[in-house]
Amino acid sequence: MTDVCRDSQPSKVGDLMRSVPDLIDEMQHNDDLSKGTVKITPEKLMALKDFSSVVGFIMNSTFLFSADLIYHYKNLYVPEWAINTIEYCGYMQGSSSLILIFFFAINKKKLITNTAWREFICENNDNEVCEIGDNEERLDVNQMSYEMTHVILMMKGHDANEFNIEEGVRNFGNWFTYSEYHLLNTIFFIQDGTFQYYVLYWAISLLGKYSADIYYSFHLLDVINRSVVLQNVMLAISMNLLQVMMTIMLMCIFVYIYTVLTFFYLQDLMYDYGINAYDSDIVGENNCQTMFLCLVTQLDKGLRNGGGVGDITEPVHYGDELEKYLFKLVHDMSFQVIVNIICLNIIFGIVVNSFAELRDQKSKNDFDMYNRCYVCNNEMLTFERGGQQGGFLRHIMKDHNLWQYVYYVVHLNSKNSSDYDGIESYIGGKYESDDNSWMPNGTALCLEDGHSVTSSGADDEKKIVAQIHLRMKDCVKAINDMNDKMDRRKKEKED
Ligand SMILES: [Zn+2]
Repeated sequence: MTDVCRDSQPSKVGDLMRSVPDLIDEMQHNDDLSKGTVKITPEKLMALKDFSSVVGFIMNSTFLFSADLIYHYKNLYVPEWAINTIEYCGYMQGSSSLILIFFFAINKKKLITNTAWREFICENNDNEVCEIGDNEERLDVNQMSYEMTHVILMMKGHDANEFNIEEGVRNFGNWFTYSEYHLLNTIFFIQDGTFQYYVLYWAISLLGKYSADIYYSFHLLDVINRSVVLQNVMLAISMNLLQVMMTIMLMCIFVYIYTVLTFFYLQDLMYDYGINAYDSDIVGENNCQTMFLCLVTQLDKGLRNGGGVGDITEPVHYGDELEKYLFKLVHDMSFQVIVNIICLNIIFGIVVNSFAELRDQKSKNDFDMYNRCYVCNNEMLTFERGGQQGGFLRHIMKDHNLWQYVYYVVHLNSKNSSDYDGIESYIGGKYESDDNSWMPNGTALCLEDGHSVTSSGADDEKKIVAQIHLRMKDCVKAINDMNDKMDRRKKEKED
């Protein structure tokens, strides 16, 4: 509920209704998993991930406090116990992260691929990729051509009635569509960000084990994945990445212009006596021997030094070379102002501004979450002012409990459409056509006595909504009763 678009009531309700198929999938999937002999729950996945992270932390700590450079800092020395610890931890981490990938695939593959299939079909239908022809000859899926089954898979997905004649058995009719389905399924799963992250995590374990221990240090970056605060920091940097990159490009162009000026007019001043100062007979090196070296030096030292490129050039004699002195003065000063002050601060400003934008968005979302009814979008004050018993809290828990709307759609989905009554067919039809006008927008029964906050909408429309509400309450009650009965029967059976 945190990543819902909260700009308006239709967008909120639309997001909720669009997430219903995913919620149904998740409920069914969790139910299936709970019946399995080995129960792989999200908590177990989390525990496995925690174990991997703790092992990673132990390895890095061992390395940090035991690694030493000996023989004039040329040879690495790590004590035997530390080598053994890192090695055993490496085995544990490699195997635990591999198990994590398998568990994740078992736990989430179906959910991820089902969501991806829904998006894929929606996109294909919007773009009218292909057209399903009439099955005038009433062909069975086994009698259909490759093209026909392919078109059905593209436009209706793997859950098309044509492929699911028998309950629980999916038949694509031919090897081509069967392979196409499995190929697409695999591609959808591989594209999942979390799966890619776990594979990368495991690959780093392998690199650490078989290449060099330094790779293990990258595992510590997992902290970004775990912390919402750090994720927001990353988001603040990435949300205006294009602006930042373009400013960096502009800065590089300015530095290049200064490089050309330095190369042609101030090259002799770019001598660095610190290079080879203690090790060789040839002391120092000119950092502007080539145009490229000059550019790299200015980018490196010019940006890192507080005073810009002026900090790394040698001084010029004022009395002897006045012209050169003045040129260097303008060159160094303008470099400092344009590159170090303006360009770098624009980049900082963009990042800081992103934080402010995120904070504003979060406070707007928080206000909406705690002060507005999700369903009708009325503010808390409207209910408190109305003086009804229980006020806003009662309203969002009883009258407009959003999960009851979700359960109602789940109820419609689980019921055969031929068994629908009048209200159910009305709402079922609206839900199928992605029309959420059956949900109250700005209206609530408890505000009916002259307190209605909407000026639009005819009275009869309100009556229909009121009827739907009453009907929904009955349905929710019926579902609850049914659940209670099932629980009782289950208990009786167990006894
Ligand atoms: Zn409401």
